[in-house]
Parts: sequence; C-alpha cells; structure tokens
Amino acid sequence: MTFEDLDLIEPICKALVQEGYTTPTPIQSEAIPIVSQGYDLLGCAQTGTGKTAAFSIPIIQRLYLQKKKGYKRGIKALILTPTRELAIQSAEEINHLAQYLPIHALPIYGGQEIGRQIRSLKDGVQVIIGTPGRVMDHMRRKTVKMDQIHTVVLDEADEMLNMGFLEDMETILSALPEERQTLMFSATMPQAIQRIAANFQKDPQIVRVVKK
Ligand code: AMP
Repeated sequence: MTFEDLDLIEPICKALVQEGYTTPTPIQSEAIPIVSQGYDLLGCAQTGTGKTAAFSIPIIQRLYLQKKKGYKRGIKALILTPTRELAIQSAEEINHLAQYLPIHALPIYGGQEIGRQIRSLKDGVQVIIGTPGRVMDHMRRKTVKMDQIHTVVLDEADEMLNMGFLEDMETILSALPEERQTLMFSATMPQAIQRIAANFQKDPQIVRVVKK
C-alpha cells in the first residue's frame, strides 16, 4: 500500500514527503482507513511502529475537512499519554504533519508552569496531548473545555495504567461528549485495558501489529 491509496488531502501528502515518510507502516495502512471512516479502534502496537502518525493523520484530515465547512474554535481532539516526553514528541509529530495547515497541537504536562499552558491554550489550539493528571487539572479549572472534543486517543494505555492513571483516564473519558470517536493503543492487552475498551468504546475495530 502507498500513501496515495489512503485518500489523503494534498497538504498532508506534502508534509509526508517533507518528513521523508515514503511508505505507510503496517499500523498506518490498517488503522488510517478505519479511523477515517469514523470507527473506534483498539490497536495493539508498540512504540516504533508508526502509531502516532496512524492516529494523527486521520485526526488532521478530519479537522481540515470540518474547518472547510466552518466550525467554532475549541479543542477537537485530545490525546492522553503517560509521560511528558511522549506528549512533547507526539505534539511535534502532529505539528510536522499539519505544517501546511492552520492546525496546531499543544503538549500539556505536569511540571510545566500552568499559566504558560493556559496562555498557549488561548492561541487557537485544536489538538492537545497531555498527561492525565495535568489534563484533569485543566478540566477542573475549565481552561480545557471538553464539549467540542470529537476524537480521544489513549496512547500507551497500558503504561498509563502502570503509572496509576486508571481513575484519571476514566474520569476524563466520562467527561467527554457521548458522540465521539475513541481510539486506544496499547503494547499489551491486560484485562484492565479490555475493560476500559468495553466501557468506553463502541464496537472497536481491532488492529494488531508487531514491531520488526
Ligand atoms: P511511533 O511508533 O509513532 O513512535 O513512530 C516511530 C518513528 O517512526 C517516529 O520517529 C516517526 O517519525 C517515524 N515514522 C512514522 N511513520 C513513518 C513512515 N511511514 N515512514 C517513515 N518513518 C515513519
């Protein structure tokens, strides 16, 4: 499969060339069509498989198509990650993939001054990538509003569990609009992950890839 087969908009194709992504990885070939069609997804994939672009490309594409029709400002996609390093890295990748579009991703994580994050949030951000504790903090302060979020991603869900974020993840998921797409990526599928999927996803499509 090639990226041309995935029906992507020109600004994303241009960014893929710019970033040197010539061929989709297996998780990208499998997940992009599923996510683009609006299905929930449960992906069993480790870091290094290209999973970040697998969920980011269809999120960016949907945002672009929505924006063309005109939409209200606000946060449309939320990505939860276990660590600040992953939040920063994923935000960078999304911003690279959206470099030819007026779409911006912001990492929010504990340890960084909250006032600075609040100011950055006012700059027209559509995607936030955050650690669960800090996202909860912004939710309580109402500096992150959940009412327009249409896509949520739990990235490295098993790692978030291991770090004790189960309750935070459940609280955040419960606060999101009912009408939304829920994507979950995890290297392992322990029972607790399957339970979150059962409780918060609707008929998820399952994709499994192994790292070479
Ligand atoms: P991830 O599994 O999302 O952490 O991605 C691992 C690395 O692969 C990242 O540094 C990406 O920039 C890179 N990458 C993702 N997709 C592709 C692709 N289709 N071609 C080349 N590199 C890629």
